[in-house]
Amino acid sequence: MSVLPSFDKLKVWFLVGSQGLYGEDTLRQVKEQSQQVCAMLNDSGDLPLSIEWRPVLTDSASIAEAMEQANVDPQVVGVIAWMHTFSPAKMWVRGLQLLQKPLLHFHTQTNVKLPYASLDFDFMNLNQSAHGDREFGYILTRLGVPRKSVVGHASDPRPRKEIASWMRAAVGLHTAKGMKVARFGDNMRQVAVTEGDKTAIESVLGVSVNTWPVNELVEVTQQVSDADVEELLHTYDEAYDVVSELRADGARRDSLRDSARIELGLRRFLTDGGFSAFTDTFEDLGGLKQLPGIAAQRLMADGYGFGAEGDWKTAILIHLAAAMGQGLPGGASLMEDYTYDLTPGQEIGLGAHMLEVSPTLTSKKPSLEIHPLDIGGREDPCRLVFTADPGPGVVAALSDIGPRFRLVVNEIELVSPAEDLPNLPVGRALWKASPDFVTATKCWLEAGAAHHTVLSNQLTTEVWTDFARMAGIELALIDNDTRFADFERNLRFEDMYRK
Ligand code: MN
Repeated sequence: MSVLPSFDKLKVWFLVGSQGLYGEDTLRQVKEQSQQVCAMLNDSGDLPLSIEWRPVLTDSASIAEAMEQANVDPQVVGVIAWMHTFSPAKMWVRGLQLLQKPLLHFHTQTNVKLPYASLDFDFMNLNQSAHGDREFGYILTRLGVPRKSVVGHASDPRPRKEIASWMRAAVGLHTAKGMKVARFGDNMRQVAVTEGDKTAIESVLGVSVNTWPVNELVEVTQQVSDADVEELLHTYDEAYDVVSELRADGARRDSLRDSARIELGLRRFLTDGGFSAFTDTFEDLGGLKQLPGIAAQRLMADGYGFGAEGDWKTAILIHLAAAMGQGLPGGASLMEDYTYDLTPGQEIGLGAHMLEVSPTLTSKKPSLEIHPLDIGGREDPCRLVFTADPGPGVVAALSDIGPRFRLVVNEIELVSPAEDLPNLPVGRALWKASPDFVTATKCWLEAGAAHHTVLSNQLTTEVWTDFARMAGIELALIDNDTRFADFERNLRFEDMYRK
């Protein structure tokens, strides 16, 4: 069973506001037209989740009831609201105060063009969302309800794309609620940014982060059967270009057996405990023969979150990114900023990790290799080696800056290396950061963003922006429009606002 939520089992509700003032005939048309809009969205093929039309709402009690039902329905990840006619907004106050799920305000109408020749006042009464949605926007602002406002017609791909991003973000928040992270060992000694308030993250995102002795994992790896290990080795042989020393007749096949045993043990431990993310640290490996390499890589490829050196915040982001990105080519991986090409005007960042980079970042067949690891004091770990595909991507990092969490997101363009990297024995990615290297890097440093990130080549900055808004987390966005002076000032404004 997948660790990722199934899009088929999730949905959003489509709530339509009106009132009795214009009579039953108008309300019948509101019903029909809103069902048409809903169908147009669902039939577009642009949306990752289906939208369920709900009966037209015309009074405070039914609105409150609808919101309470949305709150408790485990399949509903968010609510879309449209004031088809004029729905006086005081009737929405109770309901909006009850709503605990993400809200999208879809400001639309049934017709595209004005029917100039036939336009009369009946038409005006029926099609007045320009009026009704302003009333709704007012009450949302007055009550301080976070929402995404999407403006446009259902036949236009642009608003549909905005709705799709919001749906993915809502899946992320839904996934976070109740998510469990297992930590094997604590934080890497003396490292600051990977630390954080685990009680706060449970209160903010609903994620529970707890620790287990690594030797409990070791016990589970010892229970794995030899037959299961051999079967997984067969999977490795098929899926990867295995170097000769790790092949069935190779001198170091036993090292790959150890790697496979660790992977199977981790899978069992995580499945049995209901965990969707984990962390380890090379400073606390107990009886593990190797630092998990290919195991962490393949688990990330299956949607598990992973954080190295105890980094539970990045582990959370990786799982959420994988959940939000489902169905799109690519994936989500732990990434660490390592080193640069500083050729002026053509700067490139090179990211990697000691071992743990997800092979979802490449469409090519990774090579399965074994090399020494200078830290950790264990046997040489097996790992998948590859270069991430070129194309658009996003890196995101979560920092605990004391009183709160800050999500920093940077739009990037993955690039192919100018030359081969024959001596780099890990999965890696090279990229150009938006808007340019100097601005992006200065902003990253100024924001106190981490050296560990989740790199996703599935998600856009819009999805992360929507996620931060609905989660109530501060977002510091670095994209093509970013100027350092504005970015720095916004950080100061956020400081004041969040106090
Ligand atoms: Mn690291």
